[in-house]
Amino acid sequence: MRTTSRDIRTANRYRVLRQAIAESPASRPRLAAATGLSPATVTTLVAELIAHDMLVDAGFEDSGGGRPRGLFEVNPGGGALIGVDVAETYVHAEVVDLTLRTLARAHEELDPGDREPTRLTRRIGAAVRAAAGRAATGAPVLGAGISMPGMVDREGGVSVYAANWDWHHVPLLSLLADEIPFPLHLDNPMRACLVAELWFGAASGREDAIVANLGTGVGAGFALGGAPHRGASNSAGEWGHTRLVPDGRRCRCGRLGCVESYVGAPGIMRTLAEISPGSPLLAGDDQTATVARLARACREGDPVADQVLRRTADHLGAALADLVNLLDPEIVILTGWVARRLGAPLLGLAREAVARHALRRPRETTEIVLSPIRVNPVSLGAATFALEGALASVGRAGS
Ligand SMILES: [Zn+2]
Repeated sequence: MRTTSRDIRTANRYRVLRQAIAESPASRPRLAAATGLSPATVTTLVAELIAHDMLVDAGFEDSGGGRPRGLFEVNPGGGALIGVDVAETYVHAEVVDLTLRTLARAHEELDPGDREPTRLTRRIGAAVRAAAGRAATGAPVLGAGISMPGMVDREGGVSVYAANWDWHHVPLLSLLADEIPFPLHLDNPMRACLVAELWFGAASGREDAIVANLGTGVGAGFALGGAPHRGASNSAGEWGHTRLVPDGRRCRCGRLGCVESYVGAPGIMRTLAEISPGSPLLAGDDQTATVARLARACREGDPVADQVLRRTADHLGAALADLVNLLDPEIVILTGWVARRLGAPLLGLAREAVARHALRRPRETTEIVLSPIRVNPVSLGAATFALEGALASVGRAGS
């Protein structure tokens, strides 16, 4: 795909608004310094965003006797955005304002056995309408971002492959358009977490970042040169299905020894069962309860839990070291419910393991942190897709 001047202008618009969200009120000179854009470019982009109600004037800054500098800030009422996290077992929709503050949310449980696309898109539509109704905002809804598990063709609006529902080429966007009367933007949770970190989290202001998502499934989002790397078919980041152990465990993708089968929640449960068959930490096949018990037992100094955590961190560190060697990132961010639950102890051991497995030069310049985002990063990232879509259409409106 060719990069056009419109793409560059849209990317610059992202940088200006992202910086204004991070630090408001802002002045044009400060914004130019923070984004590296020229003062003339900043002036044009700010005027454009003010004309679209996304930024508003906020008085003047004292400039010590010189000409007073105009200040502006993000206009929370300039528009509402909807972010939807669709998972195997639930739909979670959030309505946020332009500063990405939550106005309302709606949550629906799904029956994991029900894989019929039309029934599912109706449930998604119901959650979006419920959240939008509760938000009762006078601001126009600028769009809805939907994060769907699996591989997504975002341009064509098709769920190419979703392992959990055994979906192949489901025309999701046209089904959703029957339910949701707003501009729609589709992508997957890996990309949503990456975009949330770029806009609001630990990757903000970074050029090269990796967001490693640990949950039931495992994947990674890459930002290269400050922009998400999607790949030719929008399926970059299937790090969970790279091989860690030759002839290792059978993965749900059918291959042997994948990263996911060691550091995803079912993989961690399997490690626990191998170390201590019949352990009371195992809550049947309930992943959430088992990982919660494991986290608690680690804090209490339980030796079995400690061994499980060390083995998991070693596998995680080896797999992260491959990414560090390949991409030489500034930062690696651990996110997803498993990373959140196992927290600082997992982070500490994973850092040590990366230090053992990665080459010295890239390792020395790579920071490894837990995600600082406290809300659901997937719905926040999905709302950001809608914000990015709205910013792209600012340009198409011809201003
Ligand atoms: Zn696999």
